[in-house]
Amino acid sequence: MILLDGKRIATKIKDELKAEISSLSQKPKLSVILVGEDPASQVYVGHKEKACAQIGMESEVIRLSASSSQDELEQLIEKLNSDSKTHAILLQLPLPKPLDAFSAIEKISPSKDADCLTAYNQGLLALGRPLVKPCTPAGVIEMLKAKDIDIAGKEAVVVGRSNIVGKPMAQLLLNENATVTICHSKTKDLKAHCLKADILVAAAGIPHLIDSSFIKEGASVVDVGIHRQEGKLIGDVNPLAMDEKAFALSPVPGGVGPMTIAGLLKNTLLLFEAGKLN
Ligand code: NAD
Repeated sequence: MILLDGKRIATKIKDELKAEISSLSQKPKLSVILVGEDPASQVYVGHKEKACAQIGMESEVIRLSASSSQDELEQLIEKLNSDSKTHAILLQLPLPKPLDAFSAIEKISPSKDADCLTAYNQGLLALGRPLVKPCTPAGVIEMLKAKDIDIAGKEAVVVGRSNIVGKPMAQLLLNENATVTICHSKTKDLKAHCLKADILVAAAGIPHLIDSSFIKEGASVVDVGIHRQEGKLIGDVNPLAMDEKAFALSPVPGGVGPMTIAGLLKNTLLLFEAGKLN
């Protein structure tokens, strides 16, 4: 079984970005907004900050307290929109209750939308003409391509339909000419759908939901899920006996996670370059 080694592929992408950035006189800058104290979000934001520093990209993490108002959050986003030193904005999700993520996201200028979250950028994605691609789903596509796994004409099944992973994942697979099925919490007989998949992307957020009995012989399986259990990270896919069925599998950790960060860095550079043309 082939390992979809996201860590290694991401390192190569980061090396290329670093070389590109070293030749720039002005450096691209990513501004990350973190609201509240969610432990997983704090870890993810730390990884993003570190990755920016590794490749010579500027970054700033702006922390707001969990009790911040919607107005405070949206005013901060407006300020970053008009800050010429910020080229990309990432609003770390989820937001603490009762903050409204949709309303906040819609304040992000599409030209600074680091994770393709705005309705405008999702619209461009749906039309097959994305300005930036959503980091996690784009990372999945890049992993498959890095291992020369054909997507066109394949049966692709995406488990999960969130706006941040499942839906844009399905859209990117469709843009790559796969025949796409989206499964979700109301899907009847998830296993029957998964068993048809040449490419299976698991993003339901349920630990070890998918085991080897869901896998068609020769399938490529990408595990987007991340769960901390007893101090260990595990995914939505139970890797036990996967090698008897799957052609390829992405590990957790070291699979999609590093690709997501590499995608964020790529988008920041892309928005920086696009900004120079305006
Ligand atoms: P989410 O909770 O917003 O969405 C989960 C989706 O799964 C929903 O659309 C729901 O309908 C579907 N679902 C739930 N139970 C199901 C079931 N039994 N069968 C089929 N579908 C079911 O989660 P999300 O933000 O899309 O994230 C999904 C997972 O991916 C989480 O574990 C998250 O931590 C992880 N994640 C990882 C990365 C990364 O970089 N690796 C990035 C984003 C999210």
